[in-house]
Amino acid sequence: MEYNIALIKGDGIGPEIVESAVAVLEKVGEKFGHVFHFTAYPAGGEAIDKFGIPLPEETVRGCLESDSVLLGAVGGPKWDGLSGDIRPEKALLGLRAAMELFTNLRPAKIYPALKDACVLRADIVGKGIDLVIVRELTGGIYFGERGRREGKYGPEAYDTEAYSVYEIERIARVAFETARKRRCHVTSIDKANVLETSRLWRETVHRVAEEYPDVTVADMLVDNAAMQLVRDPSKFDVIVTSNMFGDILSDEASQITGSIGLLASASLGSGTRGLYEPIHGSAPDIAGQNKANPIATVLSAAMMLRYSFGLTREADAIEGAVGAVLEEGLRTADILVGEGEALTCTEMTGEIIKRL
Ligand code: NAD
Repeated sequence: MEYNIALIKGDGIGPEIVESAVAVLEKVGEKFGHVFHFTAYPAGGEAIDKFGIPLPEETVRGCLESDSVLLGAVGGPKWDGLSGDIRPEKALLGLRAAMELFTNLRPAKIYPALKDACVLRADIVGKGIDLVIVRELTGGIYFGERGRREGKYGPEAYDTEAYSVYEIERIARVAFETARKRRCHVTSIDKANVLETSRLWRETVHRVAEEYPDVTVADMLVDNAAMQLVRDPSKFDVIVTSNMFGDILSDEASQITGSIGLLASASLGSGTRGLYEPIHGSAPDIAGQNKANPIATVLSAAMMLRYSFGLTREADAIEGAVGAVLEEGLRTADILVGEGEALTCTEMTGEIIKRL
């Protein structure tokens, strides 16, 4: 098969880690008989420097015409003083809107070899952590009506949460489909004891669940979920939740696994095209030093193969190679605990490629 991949290398360590993922994908292509065509487009600080705007039209068009997009990271101190509309981060929001990406998928997994980096007790980590958060990305309170007004106690502010049946159904389907590719269990997280949007959420998720008899579903209140994520994260497979609850819980889940340099993410719309990126930023403090951990971006590329291209064996091969490297004790500086020598970004990439 042939696939067109748009690359947004971005700023800071972005170009280094995207180059690593490209090298890994090229090896996968060679091994499994696929051809990946890569085209790089500017966005973020790089685009501001060249064109005065964070998201040029050509970049949007290139991404919409591609089969999927791989992004490094954007931003850095050089552009911190700019006003809201031309900040590098605007590129991300603009791309999500243009590509109509309503789902954010964030896996959180602990590698047995890295359990010492986990902040939780050994007996909790010992049960394993391997979950995916499916967060609704374009609705809810972040997009509802808001404002300031005169209230009972003087000036007040308000934000409103609204969810349509349509929005809940489509995110629920993503969660059930994702669960089918994993351990077939969905936990739907809401605040149905208080919020009307949550009651509609719960009803709708259960109706969609009837289409997936092979997947089990459980409800959990968000306050309990925040607790269970640190008490017994092994009980979760796929979590589906609203925009704001997902924003908070996905940061909690990623934190418990240890290093930020290991975690991938995907944003998806209704088609197969997605935007794949590591959860970390552009790490300006180590940019250009060949010190970055490429694993989060390499695993983002694996997610692209799995979720956008349906290449399960190929995705498994990448994840297996990353697992093997870690199991053998190879570390970049950010995940090195105690003695030992840190690998550079290019050395780590080479070691992953050797094990594919
Ligand atoms: P950051 O994630 O870039 O860095 C936080 C810390 O983690 C730093 O010490 C950094 O060196 C380290 N780190 C991050 N990724 C690493 C990797 N792959 N390997 C080794 N170490 C790594 O967060 P920050 O410092 O708050 O933000 C820096 C810039 O990135 C800011 O301009 C911010 O706006 C931007 N940012 C962009 C995105 C994105 O593009 N999606 C996301 C978050 C932050």
